[in-house]
Amino acid sequence: MLAGKTAELVTVTPDQPVFEAVRKMDQHGVGAVLVMRGQVLVGILSERDYARKVVLLERSSRSTRVEQIMTTEVVTVEPQQSVAHCMEVMTRRRFRHLPVVMEGRVIGVVSIGDLVKAVIEDQQADLDALQRYIAS
Ligand code: AMP
Repeated sequence: MLAGKTAELVTVTPDQPVFEAVRKMDQHGVGAVLVMRGQVLVGILSERDYARKVVLLERSSRSTRVEQIMTTEVVTVEPQQSVAHCMEVMTRRRFRHLPVVMEGRVIGVVSIGDLVKAVIEDQQADLDALQRYIAS
């Protein structure tokens, strides 16, 4: 279950300059933004897109629009899906962000960092329970 594990929604519109998207990533401490047209998810843009499609191609981040470099086929998950399932999807598809969609509406994003944190917390809780059991 992904409840409580999702990060805040950081969004941009397709017509915004890539510069604004990167600025938002910096302000919110995230590595990707969701591209929304109104309530509709139309793409995702991550630091990797910026590095490979702007910096390496020597394009300008102020005159390149988000829609020119975003990924439009966005893979999403539903809130009831497991942490393990999300990790499997990210590993297989080689990306680090998954928007969480409920009844057609985007309600959050999970990053690989959120998932690793959740796994570590689970393991710590198991360890604590074992230690209490041994000590009792
Ligand atoms: P990331 O590892 O998240 O920085 O993303 C690596 C590449 O995959 C970039 O081109 C992203 O636009 C793309 N990407 C990231 N997350 C997703 C996703 N959930 N669905 C489809 N593409 C994605």
